[in-house]
Amino acid sequence: VIARDSERCGYCTARATTVDHILPRSRGGRNTWRNTVAACGPCNQRKGDRTPAEAGMVFRVKPAAPSWASLAQR
Ligand SMILES: [Zn+2]
Repeated sequence: VIARDSERCGYCTARATTVDHILPRSRGGRNTWRNTVAACGPCNQRKGDRTPAEAGMVFRVKPAAPSWASLAQR
């Protein structure tokens, strides 16, 4: 996932070192391409156990399967 997102944090574009679950695993989020996004440590901590909307965080990337053509399905 980190490589898919070019090692950029999905929230602030800093260098990503962690993988964030958009819907946290503790709340039923699954480990899929669409539910994961590369994130830097501070953003991952800040988001914590919330969804990006709850944390007031905005995506700079849209999570997708590695083939970017799948974005068209949204
Ligand atoms: Zn970040």
